Amino acid sequence: MPIRLLTEEVASQIAAGEVVERPASVVKELVENALDAGARNVMVTVEGGGRHLMRVADDGIGIPADEVELAFARHATSKLSSADDLFHVQTLGFRGEALASIASVSRLTMMTRAAAESVGAQIRVEAGAILQRTSIGAPQGTVVSVENLFYNVPARLKFLKSETAERSHIAALISRYAIAYAAVRFKLVFDSRTVFQSSGSGDVREVLVTVYGVEIAKQLIELGSLYEPPASPPPAEDDEADDLALREPRSTLHASRPTIRVSGFISPPSLNRSNRKEITLFVNGRWVQDVRLSAAVLQAYHTMLMVGRYPIAVVMVALAPEDVDVNVHPTKAEVRFRNYDGAFTAVERAIRKTLTERAPIPHLEARRWDITAGADDRHAPSRWSPDWGLRGQIEPSPVETRPGASLQQPDAQNAQPPLPSDQVPLLRVIGQVGAAYIVAEGPDGLYLIDQHAAHERVLYETLSLQRAAAHIVSQALLEPVAVEVPPDAAALLQSRIVTLNQIGFSVEPFGGNTFLVRSLPTVLGNVDPARAVRVVVEDFEEDETVLAAEVEARLMARVCKRAAVKAGQVLSITEQAELVQRLEQCLSPRTCPHGRPTMIHLSVEALERQFGRKG
Ligand code: ADP
Ligand code: MG
Repeated sequence: MPIRLLTEEVASQIAAGEVVERPASVVKELVENALDAGARNVMVTVEGGGRHLMRVADDGIGIPADEVELAFARHATSKLSSADDLFHVQTLGFRGEALASIASVSRLTMMTRAAAESVGAQIRVEAGAILQRTSIGAPQGTVVSVENLFYNVPARLKFLKSETAERSHIAALISRYAIAYAAVRFKLVFDSRTVFQSSGSGDVREVLVTVYGVEIAKQLIELGSLYEPPASPPPAEDDEADDLALREPRSTLHASRPTIRVSGFISPPSLNRSNRKEITLFVNGRWVQDVRLSAAVLQAYHTMLMVGRYPIAVVMVALAPEDVDVNVHPTKAEVRFRNYDGAFTAVERAIRKTLTERAPIPHLEARRWDITAGADDRHAPSRWSPDWGLRGQIEPSPVETRPGASLQQPDAQNAQPPLPSDQVPLLRVIGQVGAAYIVAEGPDGLYLIDQHAAHERVLYETLSLQRAAAHIVSQALLEPVAVEVPPDAAALLQSRIVTLNQIGFSVEPFGGNTFLVRSLPTVLGNVDPARAVRVVVEDFEEDETVLAAEVEARLMARVCKRAAVKAGQVLSITEQAELVQRLEQCLSPRTCPHGRPTMIHLSVEALERQFGRKG
């Protein structure tokens, strides 16, 4: 074939292919336009998973009637004028491609009225061709309806995922934007059912409740909130990078500061997920996918989360627009940082600092037991309170179960002091409670240690250390033990034998579904060999992972869980002291390898308050 210029139609479909990958990309572009237009209300309506209809209505500045047609031309934008502007982009859009692209692969109708105009304009575009333009009475703002996406590109239509998949993509998109733009009211309707709605009050916590539910939202920890610098005057240029204050992305979006600010919400290690889908990153108000920044988030949780577990995090990074290149890809979901290490460190440090100061020990809250109040309000509907997430989840149950006790929320001055670090102070063991918890005294109050979780942590770290040093001490059993597993599990066990043997076991197939255990890692003590080996096949299928290191770490954690002392096991005072001492030496003594807390702390101050001696 001779070389020819592609027709306008083909060229525009090729270009559209880059921007409009799926229905959710249409919604993303339209919502970004609404936000760029300063909308306070954004309503998204989706029918048939986006194939039939996607409509985004906003109350933003609108488009002047005489510019409406131009908005659909490729590379037409009101957001950039010179090439230089590309390096100071402060809006979500800037390429002037979205409307043109969407219109070229759908039937699109736009109704818009600019603030300064008395009548609005309506335009209909099909497969990129403008069919009609009329004047119309309309409220200020813009409504874009996209119907029959890809109707003229059957090949693309075939690649669309299920309606359910598209709906969940769109819902994820809207909820993320609602978190980052808490001052904007979002509403999402699927097939005339409202599935998401935010109030636009500006309260991020409130949006988190809508997105994640009360239980999770109250546990999320605000990033950097401990280091709020003076509210006014606005931060000076020499702000420390760790002086991290929570900022609304809107305000940072338009402010140009040399420092990198990190704000947002993160889960305590005890709240985790089996995949990294809940790590959300915003850079200057733009939702981005960035492998390295996600790695910074994970790095901050290092040793606090078991391998293969991931936190929930919404992290907003704000930096001077010129320090980040947003023009990497047509979907604008990737960015390049001028100083990648800086961004990485800022994120990692902010999270790590918050975690070590806030998350380590669920703190017995210094609630006051008000014996004068008669009413029992324990069953009052739990109202979400903005500071819940800042404290531990453990309820002081002995106090709560007393009849007639009423709990009073502590006021601002009663807020807990920051915890020193993620280490544990030297503790003096006092004794055991309920054959499950060890009571110990530290320089700053009382510690209740879960003996099972603590022992799990100790075993896990010992085994990991030996493994890291490639020196696992194993002990041969007097007699090899035969373990029989169900047939479907045998294949799995067979495939994990190498890993098991790497962590100090000696296991070999013994015909059929039977395996022989010859030795065990010494650190596991007197664990039942059969049970220790069975952990390999028990609930492993469910979230299978391919990474060898993850499999190994998971195996170790499970084996240690099996081997750890149980609740209900009476320990001598020497055993208790030894356990606590070994826990003190752990790198991450405050959580078990599965992320649950090993201890709770009741500070002297809290005790004094409980007894009415103070505050
Ligand atoms: P970009 O957002 O990159 O500028 P688009 O193709 O998405 O490109 O939009 C083209 C132009 O149309 C925008 O620059 C803006 O001026 C106008 N526009 C699009 N959507 C809206 C909206 N919802 N409200 C106001 N103006 C809009
Ligand atoms: Mg746009």
